[in-house]
Amino acid sequence: MNLDSCELLVSQFRLLSDYRAAVALDYFAEVTDQLLPPGEANDRFFRLLTTVLEHMRAPDSIGSGGVWRAVTYFSLWAARLSGFLPDLSVCLSCGTLLADGETRERAFFLRGGDGLMCAECRRAAGAGSYELSVESRVMAEEMLHKPVAQIGQTGWTRETCADLRRFLVQQIEQHVERKLMTPPVLEAE
Ligand SMILES: [Zn+2]
Repeated sequence: MNLDSCELLVSQFRLLSDYRAAVALDYFAEVTDQLLPPGEANDRFFRLLTTVLEHMRAPDSIGSGGVWRAVTYFSLWAARLSGFLPDLSVCLSCGTLLADGETRERAFFLRGGDGLMCAECRRAAGAGSYELSVESRVMAEEMLHKPVAQIGQTGWTRETCADLRRFLVQQIEQHVERKLMTPPVLEAE
């Protein structure tokens, strides 16, 4: 159960005609290869892959930013299924709630850091942090509770949830203890 056997089931040939979609396939393959031990049958991960590939193949997907929805959804769930997606509603440094009902505090992350930080802890941590926007955290929440086909379909571009993908890629890289090769290509303008 890996991306190779998945490709045998359904040809991804049409996707390869779209450059960004082709790079996204390389990204799925790289992340899967890094996260799954060789030869391990992982049904939930396999279903995640088939779901996002299906979403990218849907007739109106490419024109409506389906690649970005698929890549974001895949990254979030790959981290979740592998057991290292941190709680996004709390500062992991001091325990402050970052989301309390409708109230949301600003949240930040550092390469090599665990999860999110509040503004206070970010100041103490010094330079080099990124912000994870409220919109992206709301989207992450939505993605954890809905199938990818039900995620808001309009207006997705490379900028949509780019901060969330950066955060997730850093979490994956930290977990596998190496830099991934495909994200810079995928996110290039
Ligand atoms: Zn804090």
